[in-house]
Amino acid sequence: MTKAKTSKSLTCSECGTRNCARRDQKFPAFCLTESTDPKQLKTLVRQLRGNSLDARMARASAEIEGEHYSKATRVEEIVLFAKRIGAKRIGVASCMGLIEESRLFVKVLRAHGLEPYTVVCKVGGVDKTEIGLKEKDKIRPGGHESMCNPILQAKLLNAKKTELNVVVGLCVGHDSLFFRHSKAPVTTLIVKDRVLGHNPAAALYTCGFYYKRLLNPE
Ligand code: SF4
Repeated sequence: MTKAKTSKSLTCSECGTRNCARRDQKFPAFCLTESTDPKQLKTLVRQLRGNSLDARMARASAEIEGEHYSKATRVEEIVLFAKRIGAKRIGVASCMGLIEESRLFVKVLRAHGLEPYTVVCKVGGVDKTEIGLKEKDKIRPGGHESMCNPILQAKLLNAKKTELNVVVGLCVGHDSLFFRHSKAPVTTLIVKDRVLGHNPAAALYTCGFYYKRLLNPE
């Protein structure tokens, strides 16, 4: 631990015990479980015992984790989750670059009796310069290049009253906008990483050597 780290800056990422998971060790002095107001925690737990969407989602997610731990793929887990929370209309917020993956996913959803509705990121076809970007900011300057339109994606899915939305490869930030504007709960099937085959964790697994620049920014 560096000297610069005061107990105020210590959080779960610096915890050596992770005692909140099994409660068979000691909590560290800076523990976020220990500093949580017990009343607030009790209220939250009580709310999750009920029949609200939050409660059903919390239980469905934990049940799937328990029943299918390391057996179900994420595609299967999404199908299980949708069914368990009673969501039939499934929105697919897809990146244009991953539309083939979305087409396959939609087939899977239909095979399980679900009703997918896909909206691609370039929906609306608005040129990037319309929102103030410069021609030089385009990937290929000099021609029409549509902006990603995650807010419209969310609004179109909201209008269809989807009950669960699934993100397939939206860009960093565009996904944030989608999450902000989606009325239905959102889960992610694919996290886009154009360099690492959509496996962003690989940068972390290799930052001890190949990607050490991540830890040593200039
Ligand atoms: S909540 Fe407490 S015990 Fe759990 S990881 Fe964070 S600091 Fe560690």
